[in-house]
Amino acid sequence: MLDNKKVQIDILRLDAMHPEISGNKWFKLKYNLQAAYERGAKSLLSFGGAYSNHLHALAFAGFKTKLKTIGIIRGEEVVNPTLQDCIVWGMDLHFISREKYRHKTEVSFLEEIQSKFPHAYIIPEGANNEAGLLGCNEILQGIPLANYQYIAASVGTATTLCGLINASLGSNEVLGFLAMKQGLYLEEEIKQRTTKTNWRLIDDYHFGGFGKSNAELFTFMDNFTTKHNIDLDRVYTAKMMYGMYDLIQANRFEHNAKFLVIHTGGLQGNRQ
Ligand SMILES: *Cc1c(COP(=O)(O)O)cnc(C)c1O
Repeated sequence: MLDNKKVQIDILRLDAMHPEISGNKWFKLKYNLQAAYERGAKSLLSFGGAYSNHLHALAFAGFKTKLKTIGIIRGEEVVNPTLQDCIVWGMDLHFISREKYRHKTEVSFLEEIQSKFPHAYIIPEGANNEAGLLGCNEILQGIPLANYQYIAASVGTATTLCGLINASLGSNEVLGFLAMKQGLYLEEEIKQRTTKTNWRLIDDYHFGGFGKSNAELFTFMDNFTTKHNIDLDRVYTAKMMYGMYDLIQANRFEHNAKFLVIHTGGLQGNRQ
């Protein structure tokens, strides 16, 4: 797939960490679960779309720790494999309109939710809070970072990317591939949540928006899996890897460049 290009790509397989809580979601939940436990919360509540890897991981974490979980889902009531798993693991699902969902970070909305579920520990969408970031700071532990010029990851809320930036060496450049359209506003948040400047966001491989894809992306995914026996997810990691390959083909990196690419998981979302 990469013709006559000499680069080295190592993949950090967070997708292979655990069969259910895969990828970056474990890191984002770790300190949130600890905080919920310390506060004596009776349940865990969070927000997401119908294919949310975050809610899927949360439901499993609640199942394992015997804490009730509550998922506030954006949009009309649907059933799919993601939500089916959540139900099996004991999550209560509450569907709210897209219009209402937009207020998910506003104080008044959160107060309303908290009064409805007084004993719940509320985790924001994608666990993009301080506790989530603390966990993401640990993703690169034990990795010989001096071996790499580039560290690449897919970006949703950018919490994961901020953790990678925090842990990176000054000699690394951290590349964040946006999974959605018009995501460059995240630059401001990244500046506030990190202290380094060795990063950039790449905006050219969102394939039309969050959750959008096309035949070209699917062909790339299939070829990648056939060649390397590694699955990619269509929402995040496939777009990142496609972008990486495209930039390498276009000679945008130096000869013999060494990359550490983070496979952030998400494979459960490939089920239709
Ligand atoms: C959630 C998720 C991301 C995005 O992580 P953020 O910290 O929100 O940027 C990337 N890849 C996969 C597979 C995910 O499930």
